[in-house]
Amino acid sequence: MIRKLLHAELSRRPLLRLQFPPMLEMRYEADTRRARCWHIRLTIPLGLFYYVVFSLPDRWILPDLRWIPLACRLCLVTPIGLIAMWLCGLENAVLRERFISVGILVTALIPIGFMAASKAPLAPYTMLVVLLVSLFGNVTMRIRFRYACLFSAMTVAAVAALLLWRTDLNTGVAAMLAISALACVTFGVVANNQLERAERRSYLHQLLETVRVGELSIDKERYSALSLVDPLTGLANRRAFDRRLRELLHTHTAAGIPFALLLADVDHFKRYNDRYGHPAGDACLVRVADILRGATGRKQDLAARYGGEEFAILLTDCTALDAIRIAQAICDAVAAARIAHDNRDDGEDFVSVSIGVGATDQEGGIASPDDVVAAADVNLYAAKRQGRNRVNGGASSDATDPDDETSGPAGRPFSRP
Ligand code: GH3
Ligand code: MG
Ligand code: MG
Repeated sequence: MIRKLLHAELSRRPLLRLQFPPMLEMRYEADTRRARCWHIRLTIPLGLFYYVVFSLPDRWILPDLRWIPLACRLCLVTPIGLIAMWLCGLENAVLRERFISVGILVTALIPIGFMAASKAPLAPYTMLVVLLVSLFGNVTMRIRFRYACLFSAMTVAAVAALLLWRTDLNTGVAAMLAISALACVTFGVVANNQLERAERRSYLHQLLETVRVGELSIDKERYSALSLVDPLTGLANRRAFDRRLRELLHTHTAAGIPFALLLADVDHFKRYNDRYGHPAGDACLVRVADILRGATGRKQDLAARYGGEEFAILLTDCTALDAIRIAQAICDAVAAARIAHDNRDDGEDFVSVSIGVGATDQEGGIASPDDVVAAADVNLYAAKRQGRNRVNGGASSDATDPDDETSGPAGRPFSRP
């Protein structure tokens, strides 16, 4: 949406109407306010300094006005400049820009007034101040273009009125002053227009870049999150599991805190697919995954799809005995779901899982987290041999291992999980 708007504005290339649509204009004002205020606060003292310094030649150029020029410069224009600097602190951009433009206009009209009031022969030289004020407002201060047009038109009108009023002026001098004022104002307005257009275009490009970077980082975050999720079950995937295991390897092993791993494998799943088809097999895996997710409610635990119909559950701060208890609860919950599976050859007619438990505090001296995976794997293998739909926690488990390499307790064949 914002991208479309920015592209539309960039292709618009206006000559006179430089303002953006209202919402974008508000954002432009808000985003550029700081820089604009800095600019105003730096340029106003500069302008005021020279404006007051012009009081020195006033003594010779406008001798009949005596103290009036100095009073106007110090007591009228200087406060206006100070108020404009103070207004920068306010958020109201329209008020700020209008005030500054009116201030510049007053600053230009005052010397025109001096020329109208003074009968001194050198008074027309004061026109130089008017021209400088016009340049200052349009180019140095860069009042907004629409105000620059108004200010310049009013200045030209005031100069024209002055020249009509001062009939005593030499025609050549009057023409010189008129042309100089017109040229100076024209140059200033053209420069003002170009500067504001360039500033606004550069802002649009910057904003577009910001939007692009923002979208990219959102995409990056989304993709990086997706890269850790198993698309079928929504559980963490193998990559996330490996990452978490590496983390635990550093934190828990160093701190001597036990953690455990459950490897759960769906029993006779090949037969399930054969009987119900692969789409139903997928749905079955989703249901088992939901049960695992529900059984590992703690934030620090991680249930992941290890691969195929195998799942891994990492339990942090967990002893072997607690892990076996949790594994048994999972095993019971899957069985209790009574997902129909009438193609088993072991007399059961529902989907079940076998779970091998590995834990860092297991008897038998587990030396590293890699050993935990190996232990869980061996114990899963044992659970399968013992007849499936059960938990094996190795030395910590009460389960008996019939030590039969080729069949379960009832003499049924098994496949390596
Ligand atoms: P056991 O009880 O010994 O584990 O037997 P099993 O049949 O479950 O084990 P086996 O390794 O022989 O077969 C696993 C099956 O899981 C084979 C494969 O087609 C199926 N499988 C693996 N991943 C998916 C999957 O994402 N969707 C479906 N529908 N099936 C899958
Ligand atoms: Mg299996
Ligand atoms: Mg398997």
